[in-house]
Amino acid sequence: MTRRIFVLIAIAAVVACAGGPPAGAAGQAKPAGALPNIVVLATGGTIAGAAATDVQAGYASGQVGVEQLLAAVPQAKKLAVLRGEQISNIGSQDMNDEVWLKLARRINELVAMSNVDGVVITHGTDTIEETAYFLNLVVKSKKPVVLTASMRPSTALSADGPLNFYNAVAVAANKEAAGRGVLVVINDWIHGASSLTKTSTTAVQTFMSPLRGLIGTVAYGNAEFYRGPVGRNTATSEFSLDGVTALPRVDIIMAYENMDGALIDAAVAAGAKGVVIAGVGNGNLTAPAVKALAAQAAKGIACVRSTRVATGLVGRNVELDDDKLGFVASLGLNPQKSRVLLRLALLKKRDLKDLQRIFDEY
Ligand code: ASP
Repeated sequence: MTRRIFVLIAIAAVVACAGGPPAGAAGQAKPAGALPNIVVLATGGTIAGAAATDVQAGYASGQVGVEQLLAAVPQAKKLAVLRGEQISNIGSQDMNDEVWLKLARRINELVAMSNVDGVVITHGTDTIEETAYFLNLVVKSKKPVVLTASMRPSTALSADGPLNFYNAVAVAANKEAAGRGVLVVINDWIHGASSLTKTSTTAVQTFMSPLRGLIGTVAYGNAEFYRGPVGRNTATSEFSLDGVTALPRVDIIMAYENMDGALIDAAVAAGAKGVVIAGVGNGNLTAPAVKALAAQAAKGIACVRSTRVATGLVGRNVELDDDKLGFVASLGLNPQKSRVLLRLALLKKRDLKDLQRIFDEY
């Protein structure tokens, strides 16, 4: 870390310590008219990233702690009483089940408290869509749970993190955000967890909700909401992490020209209980790959057809006879979200009909 970044962080830490009193973990409900209590859970990502200079492409994710993140956006303290907790400090390319389970459990504890009005999670952009969708399925509350991120590190010229964080706090503090499922606020847009996807490796305007559209927009903290969540979520989700210590392995395999069944068989040999195909077009794959997949389905492996195409539904029984082959159609879920849903679905033994019902309902 350069001297300059160290000095910035040291100043930020001093400012953080001088901030207002944090919301208690389990105290009294707030008096009428008081600011909402929002807990910020930091997991890392570029929003907590730092580079040696403000104009370079290379940087490291997860360098700045939650107190420094809070101190960097003092304006957010006018929107809510904020308290921070560090869950992890990793690039989200390293997101893993241990952090997921810890994060989900902590959110469920927090939203059950009468003096917590909402939760903001800071995260990397690489896998934010997967974490958001996972939380959308396992958080048991209608209170706002909002993820945010940034494409540029905290030290960059025109860093996008501070305004994204401010907007995320504003949305979490907004009563109208309740009951819309887990949300992701980035670059002035409010996305639903089931709909957003990352579309650019580097552009600030990277997240889109191509199939289902935006939940709303937010400009300098002023939010407008356009729609509710699509699919069962949070309080209406049937999935629970009670007693869960591990999630079943599900692998994603991309389809391509001249594909054979080797990778499908290898995934199962490695312990996959389910396979998601990022198919070509409407979830298609070559005849040899179909044969290998159907053979695994016949042995009880859950086989889901999604698509490598950026947008559009994968329909059941279109070019392939899913009923006969034993496949599940992912409908509106992309491969990475299909994998999340399938992992939770496979916590229980289910037949093909029940698995397809789950993809229909979520
Ligand atoms: N690799 C980073 C991450 O996902 C990228 C980002 O946050 O924008 O943590």
